Amino acid sequence: MKIICIGRNYADHATELNNPLPKTPLFFLKPDSAILKNGAPFFIPEHSDEIHHEIELIVKINRIGKHIEPKFAHKYYNEIGIGIDFTARDVQEECKQKGWPWEIAKAFDGSALIGKYYKKDLFSNPQELNFSLEKNEKLVQSGNSNQMIFDFNTIISYVSRFFTLKIGDVIFTGTPAGVSRVQRGDTLVGYLEGRESLKTKIC
Ligand code: ZN
Repeated sequence: MKIICIGRNYADHATELNNPLPKTPLFFLKPDSAILKNGAPFFIPEHSDEIHHEIELIVKINRIGKHIEPKFAHKYYNEIGIGIDFTARDVQEECKQKGWPWEIAKAFDGSALIGKYYKKDLFSNPQELNFSLEKNEKLVQSGNSNQMIFDFNTIISYVSRFFTLKIGDVIFTGTPAGVSRVQRGDTLVGYLEGRESLKTKIC
């Protein structure tokens, strides 16, 4: 399986990092070795002094698809959850400046925390979902899928122009404002529509 991550999909987060808003979805990949199971500790990697949390809505692909039309894209996922796209911001800045690929900043082991999934039918409208992240019981990020620049169906359609989507692939759909550095001893807890859906301790 593969993990596809959308960048700059919330205007307030793009602005906090001084990034321009994209005209088409911007995305990158993480390998399956990046997956961190819900509840497992996150170990700060040695190559970074500035790991940021990015809480994101995620969808799991349940059908094989290529060149999916936006109007049919909703048929290609039936589970929604939240995850954390852990980012080595210091390394990412260096990569951006030098024009290098982002993998060591974004795709290292443990960088994709995947929380609990819920059946899509549980929610009346996937584009009206509240989600949030608490660090040490303090709210640090909150968003709603109605703030996404590119919605789930647009993302699925766009990505499938370049990559065949396969059963089990996961799409991270971008983070709202409020990203911040994590430190050893921090506890992160994520909520989807008020349900505790993700947890990790930083080690
Ligand atoms: Zn992200």
